[in-house]
Amino acid sequence: MSGSGGHDTTIRGWAVDPGTGHEGAAVLEVRDGVLERLVWLSGADAEGLTPGAALILPGLIDLHAHFREPGNEDAETVATGLAAAAHGGFTTVALMPNTTPALDEPSVLGRVLAAAGASGSPVRVLAHGAVTTGRKGETLSAMGELADAGVVGFSDDGAPVRSATVLRNALAYAGALGIPIVDHPEDLSLTEGAEASEGYVATVLGLKGWPAAGEAGSVARSLAVLADVVRDVPGARLHLTHVSTASSLEHVRAAKAAGLPVTCDITPHHLALADEWIAGARRWAWEALDGDGRARDPWADGALVARPYDTSLRVNPPLRSAQDAAACRAALRDGTADAIATDHAPHTEVDKHVEFGWAANGISGIETALSVVLAAVAAGELPLATAVALLTTGPARVLGARGGTAPGLRAGEPADLVVVDASGAWTPSAASLVSKGKNTPLLGRVLPGVVRLVLAGGRLAYAGD
Ligand SMILES: [Zn+2]
Repeated sequence: MSGSGGHDTTIRGWAVDPGTGHEGAAVLEVRDGVLERLVWLSGADAEGLTPGAALILPGLIDLHAHFREPGNEDAETVATGLAAAAHGGFTTVALMPNTTPALDEPSVLGRVLAAAGASGSPVRVLAHGAVTTGRKGETLSAMGELADAGVVGFSDDGAPVRSATVLRNALAYAGALGIPIVDHPEDLSLTEGAEASEGYVATVLGLKGWPAAGEAGSVARSLAVLADVVRDVPGARLHLTHVSTASSLEHVRAAKAAGLPVTCDITPHHLALADEWIAGARRWAWEALDGDGRARDPWADGALVARPYDTSLRVNPPLRSAQDAAACRAALRDGTADAIATDHAPHTEVDKHVEFGWAANGISGIETALSVVLAAVAAGELPLATAVALLTTGPARVLGARGGTAPGLRAGEPADLVVVDASGAWTPSAASLVSKGKNTPLLGRVLPGVVRLVLAGGRLAYAGD
């Protein structure tokens, strides 16, 4: 480290830069926090530098994280969330506004940013403001003031924007401000009391089903409203977060083909885990399909290896069928989905130490996201360059200019990057996770890819051993 706090290091590895589309063996020199030199290597110089060894990626961007401050600091604080983000390779996080109080006016944003400043973390904090006051779905929040204060999106996440009329007004107002509405698609009339995705697993386990139509119907409604609004307000933009079903993704695909300004993200757990995990299966979602793309029956083929009803698997939207997870990966490959977002949702143990249907929804996922995505890459389910883009340039495009500098490995700029030992493996445990939220079904599972070094804005955010 130098006197001004900037980091000094030389890094050799396989660099992937979705900013330029370059990928290959490279050496990077960081001096006083600035990426001074990036040299692409070939021949003997590139020996041993393969995608399976050390990966050098731009710092990851998370569009969707819950840090629980203010209001539920037992589950996570801004400081612990930022430390967890850095451990996961993220150098930018966009926080969700469902805190207590909700982030529906600028003073709450001020509290969050003050906590981020006090943490000393160099990870950049962005925030979404609430669409409605108190996230009650009734009256629009102080959108203009929140825009002036710097929010990057508006969301009532945790819940959908409840009425189509409110959504219509919100899309128009936020659109005029150049800010997207980030909607959690859910038709509450179809999902009341739901515990798991409607289907075979929920039926066998006796859990109340959350039907695919509960998401796809809401997606269709929001797209129809967007189509109306965009005629008068060309800047209107809709981002659908944690989309999880094949039918929802078909709606998004058609809307994009029709030119509507819609984007969407998918979580690591929805692309890699299927609902059979609730029954006790622990194979990746791509391993749960037979050669014809049909879901294999976990009760018939000996896949059940863990105890059923593990509440770390309760999440909203729920884990879906293996076919839905395959549809999520197809959407990520073909550009229907724009980003992978963690929906990092830490909870205290007491909020999960209850019956399955009573457990709080959410998975603590910001530290395991990159490893889960690398598992999909290793299985041939996502090309490496696509996967990296979905965690960097993809989310940056969703955020637009308010998200700040576009991610990339550019000489002459502050280093914002992550170095991953792609040949290494680690096992998440209550001790190894930095987040206060230990609520992940991946505890005890060996995951590929160990984050070794994270520089955010030229400063050291994380250094492993
Ligand atoms: Zn949500």
